[in-house]
Amino acid sequence: GQCRVVCPTGAITIKHNIHPVWEALADKNTRVVVQIAPAVRVAVGDKFGIPKGENSLGKLVAALRRMGFDEIYDTDFGADLTIMEESKEFLERVKSGEKLPLFTSCCPAWVKFCEQKYPELRENISTCRSPQQMFGAVLKEEARNNKEDSRKTIVVSIMPCTAKKAEILRPEHKTEGEQDVDFVLTTTEIIRMIKEAGIDLTQMPWEAMDMPFGLSSGAGVIFGVTGGVTEAVLRRLVADSGMEALNEIKFTGIRGTKGIKESIIPYGDRQLKIAVVSGLKNADELIQKIKSGEAQYDFVEVMACRRGCMAGGGQPVPIGPRTKAARFEGLYRIDDAAQIKRSNDNPIVGELYEGLLKGKEHKLLHNNTDL
Ligand code: SF4
Repeated sequence: GQCRVVCPTGAITIKHNIHPVWEALADKNTRVVVQIAPAVRVAVGDKFGIPKGENSLGKLVAALRRMGFDEIYDTDFGADLTIMEESKEFLERVKSGEKLPLFTSCCPAWVKFCEQKYPELRENISTCRSPQQMFGAVLKEEARNNKEDSRKTIVVSIMPCTAKKAEILRPEHKTEGEQDVDFVLTTTEIIRMIKEAGIDLTQMPWEAMDMPFGLSSGAGVIFGVTGGVTEAVLRRLVADSGMEALNEIKFTGIRGTKGIKESIIPYGDRQLKIAVVSGLKNADELIQKIKSGEAQYDFVEVMACRRGCMAGGGQPVPIGPRTKAARFEGLYRIDDAAQIKRSNDNPIVGELYEGLLKGKEHKLLHNNTDL
């Protein structure tokens, strides 16, 4: 069953998923696959005395293995898939001139806000599922196809975010009537589980994720900060994959902590107008400007949390200015060290499109519209 922690003011009810995940881990007939979101790796060390913002991914992988997770993958891989689909959708809309600006869809708190406050703009939100949902759908489809393994597959996501718990229940994210992701654990919850298992994260060796979906690009990891999705899309759209071109994208104004960032990017014979917003108050302000005609954009990235998911509601607190800065830099450092920078250069992404995803892109990667 699920335990609930009820907020004393009654404003929020957060579902705790620790018990059902422990149960699944203890069951030999269940294959438990876990995906780790980008922002988790620079925050999970906080409660173990690891310096703020330091990448603890390899240690987290080692801990999860010892706790009994069967396969450990990276949500950054899901983010690579999101970039492939969202860039394609964006270019189609630019070509047709319809439903612009395209709003990003990977933050469920933003999607809900838009549906409630600006239902007339719902169509402008990308039809792409979020990285956790895309990845969950792929993992479940693979499990459905694999007749040799008789175990039941459970997909668990470790997320910086409580809104992700609601996202997995949305009907448009179900495939063949099945949830793509079964349980979401916040960073705070996984910290609790690691402690319950008696593991000291600092003592863990550095272990690699499993293959094939442990391989992802630097574009996937920067999803954890405001501007990251946009930067990842631009890396995909710019034909030149050289370092100079990638560095130029850095300096287009989409990086940094400002709540509203704007940029104009030349693309063919067009100028693409881009806005990057973090914080729902800023999103509201920007939408007012769009509606009044004061501003006009082609692409708008929205994250409900100021500065993006690294400061999400499922992350360990306190998150003071120094912690925020450390996580911010931590994620860009991981990108700097990544061998693959662009989502379309991830060889596993290419293989998946040629294999499992062939003819199923809509079914597995976009909102289910046959509701
Ligand atoms: Fe969740 Fe905040 Fe990230 Fe949105 S910005 S997905 S609410 S952590």
